[in-house]
Amino acid sequence: MHPAAANPIHRLLDEVYAEVQDLDDGEVATYIPELAKADPSICGLAVATLDGDVYTAGDLVPFTIQSVSKPFIYALALADSGPEAVLAKVGAEPTGDPFNTISLDDLTSRAHNPMVNAGAIVTTTMVAGATREEQFERLLSGLSAFAGRPLTVDESVFESESATGHRNRAIAYLMRSAGLLDEDVEQQIANYFRQCSVVVTARDLAVMTATLANAGVNPLTGVEVIPRDVVASVLTVMATCGMYDYSGEWLYRVGLPAKSGVSGAVGAVLPGQLGLAAHSPRLDPQGNSVRGVAACERISERLGLHLLLPGERVRSSLRRTYRADTVRSRRLRSQAQRGVLDAHGAEIVAYELGGDEGFAAVEPLVRIVLEDDKARWVVIDMRRVTRIDRAALALLDGLISQLTIDGGVVGIVEPRSQGARVAVRELAPRCPRFSDADGALEWAETQLLHEHGLDDALPEELVPLAEQDLLRGLPEEIVTAIETRIVTKVFHAGTVVFEEGDESDGLYFVGAGQVAADVRLGGRGGRRRLSTIASGSSFGELALVDGRPRSTRIVAIEPTICFVLSPEAFSELWDASPEACASLAMAIARSLSERLRYSTADVASLEQV
Ligand code: GLN
Repeated sequence: MHPAAANPIHRLLDEVYAEVQDLDDGEVATYIPELAKADPSICGLAVATLDGDVYTAGDLVPFTIQSVSKPFIYALALADSGPEAVLAKVGAEPTGDPFNTISLDDLTSRAHNPMVNAGAIVTTTMVAGATREEQFERLLSGLSAFAGRPLTVDESVFESESATGHRNRAIAYLMRSAGLLDEDVEQQIANYFRQCSVVVTARDLAVMTATLANAGVNPLTGVEVIPRDVVASVLTVMATCGMYDYSGEWLYRVGLPAKSGVSGAVGAVLPGQLGLAAHSPRLDPQGNSVRGVAACERISERLGLHLLLPGERVRSSLRRTYRADTVRSRRLRSQAQRGVLDAHGAEIVAYELGGDEGFAAVEPLVRIVLEDDKARWVVIDMRRVTRIDRAALALLDGLISQLTIDGGVVGIVEPRSQGARVAVRELAPRCPRFSDADGALEWAETQLLHEHGLDDALPEELVPLAEQDLLRGLPEEIVTAIETRIVTKVFHAGTVVFEEGDESDGLYFVGAGQVAADVRLGGRGGRRRLSTIASGSSFGELALVDGRPRSTRIVAIEPTICFVLSPEAFSELWDASPEACASLAMAIARSLSERLRYSTADVASLEQV
């Protein structure tokens, strides 16, 4: 184990902490007498990740949250009262005035925004609760849920602010006159003062901002504190109004949604990545912590956290395109069926997507698919899709509707990743779904073959030995020589023909029905289907070639009739008719090499990426 200080994040925080120690301009806030007691030399920094790791540096002393409570309470109000009701009373417009300005947005008769006192006093009254006491319970338990631990109120700070907060009362009465507050103004303003007096540390604040970064889920406790869909509104007002009159320059320099307060705290959010907090009581003329702002600027600058830095260009997520004339499902097909697939397989096209899907990732696919006028069956393979956003869903939805209107048929291979799979379920609910590309290809091939009158043989029609793929075209005497040495075996649907590891008992020709070959997966357990084998095809050839135990399991998936040539019968045949044996051996070699060629084409098409 390396010491904690060896971690580059700890080192960065320690460095920044040391650098900002030299800054001693600014004044501790004194308008709330209790706050004037704060030690001006204090400075604490914290970064919380979405895995719940918290890195800290400096002095992690408790302080009252003050205005940094505002975005969190706004989030609770949005969650409890809904955006419409909140927006009817509190707008989202920066004021350009100090936080405690006694003003209303004259045009709309609303408070300007929830980050100034006027708006914050109103949002405090919009959290759930039948009484003001219950509402305060909600305010405190909500802030505690953001911090991931039970928080308390500093009663002396509360008393101090309550005794001197006449300006806030003036604001509250102005809000009352505009109909934005109820009759009991004193109780409502008391809840606001109390909410500002909740005690936190820089560490708590980092977890609280990390909860916003984590779409509303506390990374320490896993609790969903606010619904995901209110997070963007909260971060928006933080970005535009969170740092008083410095908000524009803050966004310019630091590039993160943030909120500061008079106790000297700053909390900032990098969505999807981290929460950042700083605490140091000396304030600059705009009311922001001198060292807190300097520390955040340095951290953002050194790690390149500015949200509006030019992003990496998003590339197409199309990984691979292939058609059924070269890449097939693993299902073995008769010669006639293979001929049709060779000639018309290009009408089946599969597009394999991967990674995160958004507008720019999916747009090229849409263009390519719509330009392809040969494709009649389109497989959209999303197995390797990790995320899919609304833009990507909208584009895919439009694409699938257009293909359907044009007479095409679309099959969807569902993503392996749970989140993406759930999102994709909303897409084109009538399209057939598959868990892998093989199943989708088999489905498309079967439809194509059906159009050409080549449905798979029905169980009652027995494909005689002479018409078995492996033996087709061999002289009659040779087929007869084999025929006299085979045994017929019948398997009910669902029965195991042989198990992996079983002693080889011969070469099987499927006379009727269908079997599936599968293997046990190492590690995670479960089984994976390798192929389905229908009448006219054979399996277990390797038994005659190397005589080693079975490498796959075979299960009858329909009532199945097999003709079995045992190794003993094969050696007998060797003695009786060497030509028959040689022809059979050549046929087996051809069939194995054909399978190998298909796997090669399959692998080669991977190179198209
Ligand atoms: N309780 C303080 C007030 O309303 C909060 C102000 C602040 O932190 N900017 O005056």
